[in-house]
Amino acid sequence: MPETVTNWARSVTYTAKEFYRPDTAEGLRAVVAGSGKVRVLGSGHSFNRIADPGGEGVLVSVAGLPPVIDVDGTARTVRVSGGVRYAELARAVHARGLALANMASLPHISVAGSVATGTHGSGVGNGPLGSAVREVELLTADGSTVVLRRGDARFDGAVTSLGALGVVTALTLDLEPAYEVEQHVFTQLPLAGLDFAAVSAAAYSVSLFTDWRRPRFRQVWVKRRTDQPAVDFPWAAPAAEAVHPVPGMPAANCTRQLGVPGPWHERLPHFRAEFTPSSGEEIQSEYLLPRAAALDALHAVDGIRDTVAGVLQICEVRTVAADAQWLSPAYARDSVALHFTWVRDEAAVLPVVRRLEEALAPFDPRPHWGKVYGIPAADLRDRYPRLGDFRALARSLDPTGTFTNTFVRELLDD
Ligand SMILES: Cc1cc2nc3c(=O)[nH]c(=O)nc-3n(C[C@H](O)[C@H](O)[C@H](O)COP(=O)(O)OP(=O)(O)OC[C@H]3O[C@@H](n4cnc5c(N)ncnc54)[C@H](O)[C@@H]3O)c2cc1C
Repeated sequence: MPETVTNWARSVTYTAKEFYRPDTAEGLRAVVAGSGKVRVLGSGHSFNRIADPGGEGVLVSVAGLPPVIDVDGTARTVRVSGGVRYAELARAVHARGLALANMASLPHISVAGSVATGTHGSGVGNGPLGSAVREVELLTADGSTVVLRRGDARFDGAVTSLGALGVVTALTLDLEPAYEVEQHVFTQLPLAGLDFAAVSAAAYSVSLFTDWRRPRFRQVWVKRRTDQPAVDFPWAAPAAEAVHPVPGMPAANCTRQLGVPGPWHERLPHFRAEFTPSSGEEIQSEYLLPRAAALDALHAVDGIRDTVAGVLQICEVRTVAADAQWLSPAYARDSVALHFTWVRDEAAVLPVVRRLEEALAPFDPRPHWGKVYGIPAADLRDRYPRLGDFRALARSLDPTGTFTNTFVRELLDD
């Protein structure tokens, strides 16, 4: 590959024989037709080799294609092209008086790449971001366009696709009327006596942050829709000033707090679109577990707190409602998501990831597809009861395996 292409965190350098950034649909079609192995790069915010074609294949970005954001105000939907990021989508949708149901911690990520990995925000009633998708348009290896709609038998394999079905050229998403959100931060919530069900349901979206240096949450971010009841949070004191979840980072990088109401897209993400999200110098891991096991899982991490804290910047605990996507980490189970922002030192972090996975093993964790994990693919297959259906779908849409890579093959090839 003539130019060096890395992920956002610069922790992964992609290996590919060519990197293409076509600026027309015909150019994209020509790349796909002329290449034996293809992987699509979204905004590159994943932390593992999920997007990497390996030396035999080509990496293609769809970010250079003309962006399409078509809002249908009557149907309350938006059709968005494959390279568009949530920040530009949210601004366009809000300008039409409409909204998405939820967002991730940052708006910098591409919509297609996010839903391909099961990306989620928080909220006991909020499914992953892919729950909003009602239609997927794919450019497949033979150059044809395939459209899969909600209700089609194959649709539940089409959204959380790991990029294995073809190039997602457009998605149509559900919208709702625009709403406002206020963000309250509470500090120093002890793990001892935590009523996880009540705390996580205290508002539309709740995130708990701990550095595991002590058994307590340094911050709890409570995002309340102003069309829902006022926040009653008796378990911890409100923060006196705006804060950043990662110790040492400036609060100015974060969305407005202290209960000031604002548009949904300027409150649901923790990080503002114009600033570096999170810390920037990091590796991330995340595991989705059955929500009923949340407290036991938190105590299991507490049991190895010193090991975890040694390489940790911050841990975030969120909830995700069950969805129906066959490869979604929240498939058919209401989940708690334990996220870890590590220091960017792979050699120091990987042994801790393994230790953490041993501690979480009794809870059948499903790792976030876009983050660092060590659980062997063979162990993951049993955790996805519809994996066989996904395999069949991938083979029918991509019989020559054009869109597979090592990551996908390890999971699907038994
Ligand atoms: C700072 C930071 C914060 C994060 N916060 C969250 C969070 O709050 N919640 C959460 O769940 N995750 C979070 N993530 C993880 C992130 O959402 C995922 O890694 C997501 O996949 C990023 O989207 P992307 O476009 O960068 O994907 P990429 O890493 O570019 O690609 C991911 C996968 O999608 C495929 N893909 C991308 N575009 C297409 C396309 N057009 N057609 C076909 N396949 C495609 C790729 O081939 C690859 O398999 C965070 C990551 C970072 C760096």
